[in-house]
This record gives sequence, C-alpha cells and structure tokens, in this order.
Amino acid sequence: MRRIFHAYILLGPEKETIKKAKELAKTVNCKNALRYCDECNCCRRMEAGCHPDLFHVFPDGFSIKVEKIREVIMSSHQPPVEAKKKVYVFHEADKMTPEAQNALLKTLEDPPTPLIFLLLSQNLKALLPTVVSRCQILDYSRMNEGKTIPEDVKEIALEVIIRGIDFSKINLYVQKLTDAEAEADEIMEFIASVYRDILAIKTKSRASLKNRDLLDELKEKAKLSSQALVKAIEIVYSQIEAVKTKGNETLAWYNLFMGLKEQEVM
Ligand SMILES: [Zn+2]
Repeated sequence: MRRIFHAYILLGPEKETIKKAKELAKTVNCKNALRYCDECNCCRRMEAGCHPDLFHVFPDGFSIKVEKIREVIMSSHQPPVEAKKKVYVFHEADKMTPEAQNALLKTLEDPPTPLIFLLLSQNLKALLPTVVSRCQILDYSRMNEGKTIPEDVKEIALEVIIRGIDFSKINLYVQKLTDAEAEADEIMEFIASVYRDILAIKTKSRASLKNRDLLDELKEKAKLSSQALVKAIEIVYSQIEAVKTKGNETLAWYNLFMGLKEQEVM
C-alpha cells in the first residue's frame, strides 16, 4: 500500500482491525522506513497507543453519538503536535448514529489538517453509503477463514528453513515474509508443521505427514538431531506467541531466524 488516503474502513474482526489500524498509523508516520520500522519513537508510541497525535473514539454504551463526533471535528482543526498526520481510530464505527455519521461527512471528505480516519467495523451495512463512498475499504474479514498459505509464501519460508540461505540476505527474507499475503502466525504454523514432519520421519513415527509433497527435502533434513528439532519447534511456537501478543511481525521473524540459526536447524 503505497498511496495514502485519509479515510479508511477496516472491515473485519476487532482484534484484526485494531492490529491493522496500528500498522497504518505507523506506516503513515514512521520517519525511517518505507513501511514502518517499529524502532523509532513514533512507531513505538503509536504501537503502545500513547502518541499525542493518536485519538480513539469509542461508543458510549450502544452508540457513538453526534456530540462525540462534534468533538472529533473540533479537534481535527488542530494541526498535529509532532506526527506527519494525526490518526483517529473509530472503534465499532458502525455504532455511529446516522446523525453522527452525517455530521462527520464533510470532515471525512476534506479534513482541515493532515490526518487519517480509521473506521473499524464488522458491519459495513450499518454505515451510511455516503460514509462508505468516501472511504477506502480494507477487508480483513475473510483472512483467517481458509488458513491456507499461498504457495509462493510457502516457497519463501521453505527457502529459508529447508534449503538454507545466505544469512546476510535475511533482511530481504524478513521483508518478503512481513509483506506476504498471509499472517505471520499462520506462516509460522506452517514452518512448525515442517519441523514436526522432519521429526516424524526421523523417529519413524507413524503420524501422517502434513507436507508429504516435500518428502525428499524433509528426508534430507532428518539428519538433524531429534533434540535440535524439538527445540526448533519450541522456538517457532514461542514466536507465534510473541506475534500474537505483541504484534511485531518483523521482530518475531528476526527472533525466529536467529533462534533457528543458533540451533543450527536452518
Ligand atoms: Zn518508525
């Protein structure tokens, strides 16, 4: 996503859209990276939710009322304190009353100061068509349904863990994996399944292999010690946990590869 618009609807489960909202807030404002660096002061405070230019709008009880939206509009006239763009995150945006949504229209179309509006919603139908038509829609609602990893993403993961790569190119691979069309924890689950299969081959376990199509490559890796393989699976799971709780995919990928490298399993 290179072009930045100023109003988005993030459609999907709350947890997912909150995560994506943070990513957008950082992408728009990070001074270091093309995407975001997660290291700078700005990224870290956006992630932690304590940046002075980050605003959250929550429902009062069952709705987001027009009074609340008027406050947002007032505040949108103030330029950012230090960020490139102020970020307004509307939680359960579909709970805005029709009156509230109408009040927001003009600011949504033509904000008075550099900002982005992020409307998180699970229910597009509850938003007025006039609101929807002024926003870019990012749909995360079906992302976790299939749990299938695209072949090209699998290929990248396999290249690193099975075929082994020059460790100096690791930045490139981390970048590819964070940009991939699959969630980091899902790709890592796949990696764990590969190590489990290698272990199964090694121990001649009767457990059915998940990645039978890779049998030859997996057999090659079965010369690793069982202990190292068990450790590898543990490392992968600790990073799945990290990515789920902390949400920093880039860091999790680095930690994963460093850990596997240390165990000499990749
Ligand atoms: Zn940054």
